[in-house]
Amino acid sequence: MKTFCGRANPTTGAMEWLEEDENYDYHQEIARSRYADMLHDKDRNVKYYQGIHAAVSRVKERGEKAIVLDIGTGTGLLSMMAASAGADFCYAIEVFKPMANAAVKIVEKNGFHDKIKVINKHSTEVTVGPDGDMQCRANILVTELFDTELIGEGALPTYEHAHKYLVQEGCEAVPHRATVYVQLVESKRMWSWNKLFPVHVEAEDGEKIIVSPSEMENCPGVPSVCDIQLNQMPSSDFTILSDVVTMFSVDFSKPVRSASTYYKVQLEPVKSGKAQIVLSWWDIDMDPSGMINCTMAPYWVKSTSAFQWRDHWMQCVYFLPNEEPVLQGEKVYLTACRDEYSVWYKLQKARGEEENKADVHVESPVCRCQAHLLWNRPRFGELNDENRTRQYITSLMKVLKTDSVCLCISDGSLLPVLAHYLGAKQFFKANHLEDKIKIIEARPELLTSSHLEDKKISVLVGEPFFTTSLLPWHNLYFWYARTAVTSHLTSNVTVLPQSASLHMMIVEFQDLWRIRSPCGTCEGFDVQTMDDMIKNSLNFRESKEAEPHPLWEYPCKSLSNPQEVLTFDFRKTVPQHCLSTEGSVNLLRKGKSHGAVLWMEYHLAADISISTGLMQISNEKGNCEWNPHCKQAVYFFSSVIESEAVSGLPSAVTYAINFNTKTGEIAMDFKLL
Ligand code: SAH
Repeated sequence: MKTFCGRANPTTGAMEWLEEDENYDYHQEIARSRYADMLHDKDRNVKYYQGIHAAVSRVKERGEKAIVLDIGTGTGLLSMMAASAGADFCYAIEVFKPMANAAVKIVEKNGFHDKIKVINKHSTEVTVGPDGDMQCRANILVTELFDTELIGEGALPTYEHAHKYLVQEGCEAVPHRATVYVQLVESKRMWSWNKLFPVHVEAEDGEKIIVSPSEMENCPGVPSVCDIQLNQMPSSDFTILSDVVTMFSVDFSKPVRSASTYYKVQLEPVKSGKAQIVLSWWDIDMDPSGMINCTMAPYWVKSTSAFQWRDHWMQCVYFLPNEEPVLQGEKVYLTACRDEYSVWYKLQKARGEEENKADVHVESPVCRCQAHLLWNRPRFGELNDENRTRQYITSLMKVLKTDSVCLCISDGSLLPVLAHYLGAKQFFKANHLEDKIKIIEARPELLTSSHLEDKKISVLVGEPFFTTSLLPWHNLYFWYARTAVTSHLTSNVTVLPQSASLHMMIVEFQDLWRIRSPCGTCEGFDVQTMDDMIKNSLNFRESKEAEPHPLWEYPCKSLSNPQEVLTFDFRKTVPQHCLSTEGSVNLLRKGKSHGAVLWMEYHLAADISISTGLMQISNEKGNCEWNPHCKQAVYFFSSVIESEAVSGLPSAVTYAINFNTKTGEIAMDFKLL
């Protein structure tokens, strides 16, 4: 079956009807899912296996039959581990139908069909009894329902229900317990993801400072978790203000309560500073003794050298509602509030116990200033990037005259404010400020002369940035918008940026390649069915696609020089014909060509460019530094990722890249020579 879905094309802005196969969402789910990453997570798998072994043994030692309930079985992995460890029977519950089907196949292929029953239901729908899904309650509860925030995927309500209806009292649980840790830090870099810092503008008549309104200053932000690869955050980017403390833990072998609650700890700052951020991660003990521990602790906490890279579990950054000065040795209280699915934090100065208890509010933070709804965390970071702002200011100063009539096309941009402070008298903004800046609530193609008070635009500016952009070139929407407003521009209009270019480089990833690499076998179990399923879903759309990744979180080294592959001249309108290019890049370093990275650079003025991708190649090893506020496009070379061979390294990569100006899509093809 095919269905038609309406959407605004992210690049051209045109409304279009896409014919989508009804399976599209499901293929996206599989293709972009974290199943492969979980199966590659050796540390996790080994510890689950040890924990399951130990739990089955304890039950057997008591002379009982080992009946396992595996909630969220996915590939069936944990049930197969249990069956191998001697469990008498496993009920493997999986709500997502394509995965339940895959689990049936994988269980069958590995010869466990008489020991494992796959049930395609949400665990809360599972029935127990002679005619039920399960014959009896289980005495071993195995799950892996955790996200980076631990509870964000609904582990708590699932456990609460399972203890009430699906498992015996005193059951064994793998994992046995989870513990959430926190550390208080000051970090200008991370704080810049949540608050708009004052912007300094050197204007002709002196320095002006743009400050955010007080409602923004005092806004608690949005409740969504900020999960990052904290191990990529250099220690110079934050100051530790407290030791690591245990915030709360959950014993999964006892009844679990999911209802909203809070936990409070006392902290003694080890350093004076501004408390801004709570860094948090968790660990799980697979057995009651705590001997089998799997931890997400970041590099400065974890002493082991055996470091496991994983993308399905990272670390959390929580923003305190306001920054609080703390003094070394002067105790403070940190409160973690949680509902069924998320956690948030607040800090209070140590006062009387009773007083503190009284003012714990358990409501989750809600953005009151709108800015946190308009700008996501990387966007806040981008707007707070002083270097970047300086480049825009210098460029604006070059093009603005006192009689300029300016139009800005970009989402939630500060350019009009900057231009205003730089002396531009007339400013229009196609989207929100006082009488000097007029906000036009119209799409560019619907702009009329009356919107512009019958004036012609002499300076057209954009960052460009649009919230609808997922891939770097989606911001070419600026070019389409520029084309749509052509009739309102003066004949000698200045466009800033004047042009953009698409750049490409071949890289070897330290770890990111794992998310697209097949598993084959996992702890001795054949999971190739899953590999095939992912491959099939990745190939579901005939042409392979590049995918967005914030590469500052995923180290790689460059194997080729960066290459400019396409240019887009914003001084002219979008051409009718396609823009294509072909060529080859030489590989300069030894390494596995895992893929090509693509990004956009914007040429603001003759000698001022902004890169949304590569900032620099930091050393002779080819380690790359990426723009920390943007996602880059990654095109994985599946043939390299799928092969084990290291020999026969290619010497060059040829590319063919085509920008279809009608659809705004970029198609690409690469060959390794
Ligand atoms: N156990 C597998 C897969 C873990 S991923 C492994 O460790 O490799 C978690 C899976 O649980 C997902 O497939 C999700 O669809 C499923 N799931 C989450 N909550 C569930 C619930 N309450 N009932 C049934 N399935 C659930």
